[in-house]
Amino acid sequence: MRQLASIQRIRKLEPIAGADAIVKASVLGWDVVVKKGEFQAGDLCVYCEIDSLLPDKPAFAFLQAYGMRIRTVRLRGQISQGICFPLSVLPDGVEPVEGKEVTEALGVRKYEPPMPANLAGIAKGPFPAWFPKTDETRVQILQDRLDAFHGKACYVTEKLDGSSATYYWRDSEFGVCSRNLELLPDPKNSLWKFAEKTELAKKLSALDRDIALQGEIVGEGIQGNKYGIKGQTVYFFNAFDIQNYSYLGFQEFQALLSTMGLESVPVLERNYALTNKIAELVQLSIGKSVLKPVRREGLVIRPLEEQRDAAGRVSFKVINPEFLLKYE
Ligand code: AMP
Ligand code: MN
Repeated sequence: MRQLASIQRIRKLEPIAGADAIVKASVLGWDVVVKKGEFQAGDLCVYCEIDSLLPDKPAFAFLQAYGMRIRTVRLRGQISQGICFPLSVLPDGVEPVEGKEVTEALGVRKYEPPMPANLAGIAKGPFPAWFPKTDETRVQILQDRLDAFHGKACYVTEKLDGSSATYYWRDSEFGVCSRNLELLPDPKNSLWKFAEKTELAKKLSALDRDIALQGEIVGEGIQGNKYGIKGQTVYFFNAFDIQNYSYLGFQEFQALLSTMGLESVPVLERNYALTNKIAELVQLSIGKSVLKPVRREGLVIRPLEEQRDAAGRVSFKVINPEFLLKYE
C-alpha cells in the first residue's frame, strides 16, 4: 500500500544559497537536492522517498556506503528528503507515466529498523489476516487527499518511535503480534510481558467481541529508549473491530482504552481543522515529545470519524524533519 518509488514531475528548481553544483527540486510535497543540470523544471523522474531500500545494482552503487537506504540529509543548509533518479533507471518495458508506482518494478523495499532481541520472540506464524498491519503514509504524497479533506475535523497524536504491537481476541483466543509476525507465548518477550502485567487477555475477553488493539511499545532496549522509560510499556493508537472489519472512531477508541485502564498515544489536538498545506503540517510536526523533552518523531493525523477513500484509511504521518536529521 505504501508507495516508496514512483514516476513524478519536478515542479520547480530553485538555487540553494552558497551552492553552485546543486539545486533544490520540488517533487510532490518534498524538497530534494539534485545536481545542477541533471533535470529541467517539468521533467519526469523516478522519485524514491526516504526509508526506501534500493537493490544492489550499478545505478545505485553510491548507496552502498549507506546500507542502500535513503535518508534525510542536509546539504549546504538545505534539507533533502528522497532521491530523484533519471528515467533511465527504469527496467525495460516500464512506461514512464506520471504518478505511476514503480516500487516493485525497481525492487525497492521499505527499511525497517532491526527488531531487538527482547521483542523478536518466537514466531507462531505470519501476521494474521483478520486485521491490517500497522502502517502510516507520509503526508508528502497526499496533496490530493489533503485537498479532499481540507477543513475536516481531525485529531492529532504524537508519533512515538518504538516498535509496533498488536494484541487480539478472536474466537475466544488471545494473540500477540510484533510488526510482521504472530508470536508464541514467551515470558521473556517484552510484548508478552506487557500482556501479562496488564492482564490484557482477561480484559479483552471481558469485552465480548472480536477485537484487535494496536500500539507502540517503547522503553528499555527499544530504539535507544529515547523517552527514558523504565522497563517497557505500550501506548495504543488503534482498535479494530474484527467482525465488521473496521476501525473504531476516536471517541469510542478512547472510551475503550479508559475502561480497560490502557494508555493512548499522547493526544495533542482533539478538534483540529485539517489544512491542505503540506509545509504547514511539517512545521506543526516540529516540537518536543510529551513523554520527555526530546525531539518528537512526528505526528499522526486522522479524522475524528473514520474515513476511507480509494487509497484506504484516511490517516497519515508527518515526520519532524529535525528528528530525522538527528537520529537517521
Ligand atoms: P513508521 O514508524 O515510519 O513505519 O510509521 C508507521 C508506524 O508508526 C506504525 O506502524 C506504528 O507502529 C507507529 N506509530 C507510532 N506512533 C503512532 C501513532 N501515534 N499513531 C499511529 N501509528 C504510530
Ligand atoms: Mn516507527
